[in-house]
Amino acid sequence: MAEIYDLHCHSTASDGALSPTELVTRAHEQGVTSMALTDHDTTTGLAEARTAATAKGIRLIPGIELSVSWHDKCFHIVGLGINPDYPPLAQATQDLQTVRVERAEKIAHKLEKKRIPGALEAVKHAAGDGMITRTHFADFLLSQHHVSTQQEAFDRYLGQGKPAYVSTSWAEMSLAIKWITESGGVAVLAHPLRYKLTANWMKRLLTAFKEAGGQGIEVVTSRINADEIKLIAGYAASFGLAGSKGSDFHNPENQWVELGRLAPLPSAIKPVWELLEF
Ligand code: AMP
Ligand code: MN
Ligand code: MN
Ligand code: MN
Repeated sequence: MAEIYDLHCHSTASDGALSPTELVTRAHEQGVTSMALTDHDTTTGLAEARTAATAKGIRLIPGIELSVSWHDKCFHIVGLGINPDYPPLAQATQDLQTVRVERAEKIAHKLEKKRIPGALEAVKHAAGDGMITRTHFADFLLSQHHVSTQQEAFDRYLGQGKPAYVSTSWAEMSLAIKWITESGGVAVLAHPLRYKLTANWMKRLLTAFKEAGGQGIEVVTSRINADEIKLIAGYAASFGLAGSKGSDFHNPENQWVELGRLAPLPSAIKPVWELLEF
């Protein structure tokens, strides 16, 4: 049977709509044979995902998507095959939870100044025990009819430079890569084209990423075209990085993104799963 990998997705432990059990069940229904749960800055969904994966006979790779700062910009590093109990990583996720709560308070305050009250209570309630993200704010703005799409919430309020944007100091990139690799995992640069970097800055980023111990790059993600895959595969080859694939699935309502529905990894690229121990 063909292996189908999806090494990037989210549950209710961060900004996904499905619980870890529902997510694993859906992945299984979609034919995924190996999946990584990679919630934003948290590993609290992994235990439930593990139980569900064992029940379904699907391979679960413990993962995380860490928010990091590099040159005052935010990047996402996916950790695959991590040990969530490795103390520095566990401490980091606790610290990041505090960072996210404090950021949420500031975002809510800025929304209040725009005559939009009640955001903090709403996002805290929606996130429950999980990490509060801007997705929760977007959903709140949508539910209150301040915007008519999630995208509009980012374009008008939450995106960089918009009235409710709060610039945040995330983990330092090299430290985050260290936590991942020292816990036994592989660090992967998530969705490299989403940062809108010039070719020169991309090379600087990949040089720093590689020097810090980064080993992989997401070559195949959702809604990516053949030219983009070729471009990223070129970076993977030049920097000696393994290639990952992941949908970044959040919500079944997004008809463009489905678990496991991904183009093949170019054959010249070393698959990142060859670096993972099962
Ligand atoms: P945060 O990590 O709290 O800043 O939230 C970032 C999350 O917001 C991302 O992981 C996406 O799920 C979501 N997001 C960011 N930009 C957009 C956008 N333009 N439209 C919809 N969702 C977005
Ligand atoms: Mn997200
Ligand atoms: Mn991301
Ligand atoms: Mn993601």
